Amino acid sequence: MKWSVVLLFVGAAVAVAEEVVLAKDCDVELCKLPDCRCSSTNIPGDLLPRDTPQFVTVTFDDGVNNLNIMTYREVLYNRKNSNGCPAGATFYVSHEYTNYQFVNELYNQGYEIALHSISHQTPQTYWATASYNSLKEEFADQRVLTSHFANIPMDAIKGVRLPFLQMSGDTSFQVMSDFGLVYDCSWITNNYSDPALWPYTLEYKSTQDCVVPPCPTASIPKTWVMPMVSWTDLNHTKCAMADTCYYTPELDDEAGWFQFILSNFERHYFSNRAPFGFYIHEWYLSTNPAVKAAMIRFLDVINNLSDVFMVNSAEVIDWVKDPVPVDQYREKTCKSWISSVCPPSSCGNVPATHNQNTYWMQICNVCPKVYPWLGNPLGLEPVTEAPEAL
Ligand SMILES: [Zn+2]
Repeated sequence: MKWSVVLLFVGAAVAVAEEVVLAKDCDVELCKLPDCRCSSTNIPGDLLPRDTPQFVTVTFDDGVNNLNIMTYREVLYNRKNSNGCPAGATFYVSHEYTNYQFVNELYNQGYEIALHSISHQTPQTYWATASYNSLKEEFADQRVLTSHFANIPMDAIKGVRLPFLQMSGDTSFQVMSDFGLVYDCSWITNNYSDPALWPYTLEYKSTQDCVVPPCPTASIPKTWVMPMVSWTDLNHTKCAMADTCYYTPELDDEAGWFQFILSNFERHYFSNRAPFGFYIHEWYLSTNPAVKAAMIRFLDVINNLSDVFMVNSAEVIDWVKDPVPVDQYREKTCKSWISSVCPPSSCGNVPATHNQNTYWMQICNVCPKVYPWLGNPLGLEPVTEAPEAL
């Protein structure tokens, strides 16, 4: 009897030790930059809107392949902001069918490579309920995989976007925190779009609306949320990505689309200048040339505005940590990155262990033994049972 009480007590203590610490209401006196920021529509550093750089974050999701790279080259390459610095964009790359030689190319053009999981698997509930270990394998291991096969530095990979924008409560953020990933850009806000929500950390309780639950409730210091601020379509319905808006201009109406993009941009630019996210999938541009033309026209316009900067998402977090006025920001030295060669390998008939397929891989460095996947991000020879010693 006595022993069972003791055991129960020990069991309870262990359970408590593993339990997460719930985030408390945010206290602006305790939560200060550079490592803490309350969820808020206030401009960092209490700057006036006219002194605040308007950041634009263009992002593309999913695998990088020999079709969509053509669009990326056409729409993005050789763009500069009005201060002469190269314009940025962020790629949330999923692993399957990705050509890592092109990922290396995008990195060398100065764009940001971020994580969108190894498997990108369905059903969506997989992501909502995923265990810590699953998300460690999907994201922390994907960082190792991407760094290895695209031959880019681990440290350059900082961001995460969950497939289907399906939040997974605290779990994905706990993985990020434990493995040194800086920010998440999966969390949609419909309520805070006018004025829009600025990026913030998860040390204290978020006030952001939870559109695709479960959303985090734990205190996870120094881990940043880059809110996906919804656009508003022509029927005043919210949409997180431009290609999920429903009541849009006709898909062949370039002038209409240009106006549509511009009016969403202006909601940020003429208000608190929270970063304007332009989130889209490449297929939407290649199947709708008028939308692509409108996007190019929009980027041409903002690349000529002296207080607007098209940047990598991680550059926004860097600015929020140390918010300097726009006249100072314009004069800063441009972002730098260490260019990286890619000794190319074409790997045919790479067998998979998670299905019956064989894959064709375009990578830097040496071909893997098997197709890299969950639990084996480098595609090493699967371990076989050692034969009994005779
Ligand atoms: Zn995706």
